[in-house]
Amino acid sequence: MIELSAAQAIAAIDAGELDGSELFAFYRERAVEHGGELERGGLNCFTWTSPQVPDTPAGPLAGVPLAVKDLFCTQGVPSQSGSRILQDYKPPYTATAVTRLREAGAGLLAKTNQDEFAMGSSTENSAFGPTLNPWDRTRVPGGSSGGSAAAVAAGLAPWALGTDTGGSIRQPAAMCGIVGLKPTYGSVSRFGMIAFASSLDQAGPLTRDVTDAALMLRHLVGRDPCDATSLQFPHEIELPSAERLDGVRLGVPTELSRSGGEAAMEPGVRACFEHALELAQELGASVQEVQLPHAPHALSAYYVLAPAEASSNLARFDGVRYGLRADDPRDLLDMYTRTRHDGFGAEVKRRIMLGTYALSSGYYDAYYGRAQRVRTKIAQDFAAAFESVDLILTPTAPGVAFALGEKTSDPWSMYLSDYFTVPMSLAGIPAISIPCGLSEESDDPSPPAPHGGGLPVGVQIAGPAFSENRLLDAAYALERAIGFDGAPARV
Ligand code: GLN
Repeated sequence: MIELSAAQAIAAIDAGELDGSELFAFYRERAVEHGGELERGGLNCFTWTSPQVPDTPAGPLAGVPLAVKDLFCTQGVPSQSGSRILQDYKPPYTATAVTRLREAGAGLLAKTNQDEFAMGSSTENSAFGPTLNPWDRTRVPGGSSGGSAAAVAAGLAPWALGTDTGGSIRQPAAMCGIVGLKPTYGSVSRFGMIAFASSLDQAGPLTRDVTDAALMLRHLVGRDPCDATSLQFPHEIELPSAERLDGVRLGVPTELSRSGGEAAMEPGVRACFEHALELAQELGASVQEVQLPHAPHALSAYYVLAPAEASSNLARFDGVRYGLRADDPRDLLDMYTRTRHDGFGAEVKRRIMLGTYALSSGYYDAYYGRAQRVRTKIAQDFAAAFESVDLILTPTAPGVAFALGEKTSDPWSMYLSDYFTVPMSLAGIPAISIPCGLSEESDDPSPPAPHGGGLPVGVQIAGPAFSENRLLDAAYALERAIGFDGAPARV
């Protein structure tokens, strides 16, 4: 069963060769055995696993188990967004994205570990401890959807739901050797997603292959009356079928490929990326250089805008409405202060301070206003580039999975992990990461991965808003040509 993708498992169930409940029980057992706490030898990728095997629900997804990032509200099931302030919080309703997948027949297998409120690139900012990378347990799985990525890579869930604000689906997918898709902003409802930065947050699939990503996306998209920023996707999401890339014009942005700018791309990443470009050309695509002149400023703009929105969104965690409340407060202010002091981790506090500062009177225009203008420039850069190319290719992350603890004391070096993914988030456009090989030479001096090979590298493909079908087709053709084998990561 482990070798089946979600789409293959559904086909086997439909053909009567596999029983949906059996599949769920198989994954549940694996999830409990290998996905739990570090002390029990697990990857710590799950914060909750289903206590029972549900009746196989009707619908096109045929009961295939689904792992869901902790920050999606799931009725009666802990939804803690990786934070102590929401410890054991069980919401009274379920996020639309999860409801849609369940109505299509997916079964809720587990909730996955994440950086607190999705702030981070390594899953080390979780109040529930870090998740380990199944390729090498001394390394991070990336983040913030690291639990979802590790679970899929390790074969503890056939597929998983994550969210991406500045790279949190794509970057962990790259570091775990799986596929991650951030859809066009607004195409998937944010209702019931515990908010980080509302103008950037977007739900999407983390899967073994491109077909599964398309299949999940098909059931996720659509306007939701509960989310005013959600949109009707203009067409049906097709399952990809392209074998060639003839006539496809691929753009490689100078600013996001050659050097990786400040992010300093590792040689092993560069080699895999160059190889992917060669394969794309062999498949018939043309490759040309394009310019995104404002992309080098994306990270600076993002780290004003995202914390500004976060500081506002996180004001609701006051000890009154849900989650943690300080014991024996002297008065109301003392209760607020101590609840937030005890409930939030260091990174969240850092972002609240950055965000409130950027929004404060006298500084608002200098920081927030200017960052918004940079955001507009970046969107315009992409629009101009898409006049001469169909899709844009970059490495997903400048480096392979780094060692646990390596970047925790240096926030900026952690932030640089998202150098290649943040521009697309600011522009609201879709982007997918697919594995493009193993890096044989990491710059990292620590010992090589225990399975003897290198560590996974991802290539990112981005397109204009609502170009998901084209994006998935190109990713599919490239995926077949690359022939990446994710099996060594499975436990
Ligand atoms: N790593 C980035 C951050 O910390 C992006 C996180 C995300 O996409 N949720 O903000």
